[in-house]
Amino acid sequence: MSEHDQEEQLSSFSVGSGIARFVIVVLSGKGGVGKSTVAANLAVGLSLQGHEVGLLDMDFHGPSIPGMLGLKGSRLGSDGESRIDPAMFGSLRVVSIDFLLQNRDDAVIWRGPMKAGIARQLLESVEWGDLDYLVVDSPPGTGDEPLSIAQLISDPAGALIVTTAQGVSTDDVSRSITFCRRVELPVLGVVENMSGMQCPHCGGEIELFGTGGGEKMAAGMGVDFLGRIPFDPGILSSSDQGRPFVYFDSESSSNMTFGGILEKLIEAAGKVKSKE
Ligand code: ADP
Repeated sequence: MSEHDQEEQLSSFSVGSGIARFVIVVLSGKGGVGKSTVAANLAVGLSLQGHEVGLLDMDFHGPSIPGMLGLKGSRLGSDGESRIDPAMFGSLRVVSIDFLLQNRDDAVIWRGPMKAGIARQLLESVEWGDLDYLVVDSPPGTGDEPLSIAQLISDPAGALIVTTAQGVSTDDVSRSITFCRRVELPVLGVVENMSGMQCPHCGGEIELFGTGGGEKMAAGMGVDFLGRIPFDPGILSSSDQGRPFVYFDSESSSNMTFGGILEKLIEAAGKVKSKE
């Protein structure tokens, strides 16, 4: 089957229509840039604003959302028939492939079609309710896995691309943007994560991975830059402890910055949908 036929076949099976008014797919060109951190805090932030929100963790290589929300070890409930109940973080409905794994090695032995099948089932069979937003934490990269997730979801609002500022990572962003264009997924914007750090001693700025690379790349590719999140030891420790910073550290400067990004993202998603 040609690549084009495969894409046609995948998109003809797309699901998720009607689950949420806005489906936001969080992407990164590579792992370790903070994609899941942004996805988790985005979903919690939206639900704190009073929206009905679902968070679907489809990162087969490292499903880290449960750990970040203190839901590690959760299992999906069921009504005993066909519906699956999500785990809850407050009013946020959370589903992760981690909830399906008996042990951590299971993820690596799943083959491509199995992964797409599981993604489909989680979209179709989970009792998502009537959502305003569904945030999907996609596998990293621009290969088959994010491709099949992106194509599986019908009518997404678009993609949020997470990067760090250094050259290798921003090159990955341009690949992610090209990827989105290929699958006709609107790019809602780019976020530069771990962008600089405030020195705890003198208060000066330390350039960890540099700053501004993501913004330059976004401008060069004609997509919106939504903002920078600094490297914040508070984010690192709160993630490790299952305490998302937007909830537990709402007075932090990182949360103020994140709030601005959230507003721009909501606006971008609204614009995409109003054009339809
Ligand atoms: P990805 O999903 O891209 O692989 P993660 O979201 O799992 O990346 O983040 C990787 C690690 O970096 C995690 O330990 C996370 O807590 C940490 N991290 C992410 N963003 C920040 C930040 N802005 N400041 C400090 N640590 C961060």
